[in-house]
Amino acid sequence: MRILKKCIKKILNALGYDVIRIPPRKGYKKPKRDLLRMTYNLTNHCNLNCKCCDNFAPLVEEEFTDLEIFKRDLKRIAALSNMGKGIELLQLTGGEPLLHPQINEALKIARDCFITAPIEIVTNGILLLRMPDPFWQICRENKITIVVTKYPINIDHQGIKEKAAANGVEFHFYGDTEQVLKTMHCVPLDLNGRQNKNESFTKCYKSNLCIKCRNGKLYTCSLIPNIHYFNNYFNLNLRVSKRDHIDIYKARDLDEIFEFIRKPIPFCKYCNIDGSRYDIKWDVSKRELTEWV
Ligand code: SF4
Ligand code: SF4
Repeated sequence: MRILKKCIKKILNALGYDVIRIPPRKGYKKPKRDLLRMTYNLTNHCNLNCKCCDNFAPLVEEEFTDLEIFKRDLKRIAALSNMGKGIELLQLTGGEPLLHPQINEALKIARDCFITAPIEIVTNGILLLRMPDPFWQICRENKITIVVTKYPINIDHQGIKEKAAANGVEFHFYGDTEQVLKTMHCVPLDLNGRQNKNESFTKCYKSNLCIKCRNGKLYTCSLIPNIHYFNNYFNLNLRVSKRDHIDIYKARDLDEIFEFIRKPIPFCKYCNIDGSRYDIKWDVSKRELTEWV
């Protein structure tokens, strides 16, 4: 068997695949979750357009989530999770979620579906001080927490905090930091897909954690449901297969979902985790390929 493995490795290396070692088939699962922590994008575009954005928001034309699809998906997850009791956290994200013209309606839908689960809106905060009174009232009445990521931009963070307090709305800064020190992080994409998917998945902090639901599908991370924006903009073809998501309408129960999201998926072959770059100084995106590779 060992000789056979060596032969396969030699052949793959000769074909140009960078095979360091052939990994065992098992052992790459992450610990099984017992509660679902999930994000759902309300928009895919953003009003900030940060360099290296891992949702590829700078590459997206204006695009709002259809609330009928949103409602149907949340209802299905609620049914799978004992009316949301199996939900650790629902985060409404983007892009920039506050750009959605029906944001108030979206918040009510989320709370109707998940009666007791914690629900957060994660925003860059740019629009918050301009949000009309009904928005604040709905956040308060539906126990929606506002979470602001502190980007180093000209924005009245203290004013936002005070406004939330004055409206009786739960609020905190992302990472609970009081300092403005947001930097960016990039997991370079290997356009040839020559990474070891098992190792990428195992080392990736997003896998089994940044779980994203979109259009009836659930993904182990937020990268895969957004990669088509990157492909379209740069005319590339990083392929997503049926094995990269689980269909929430076909899943029997949450247990099946938990089993799926803890295991490597084919798309991980595009993530060069070992080449990750940290603490990239924040800036506005120039929409150049080098930001993501
Ligand atoms: S604020 Fe968030 S979603 Fe918007 S561009 Fe920056 S990182 Fe992306
Ligand atoms: S595709 Fe895999 S390695 Fe890449 S971010 Fe998602 S889970 Fe991580």
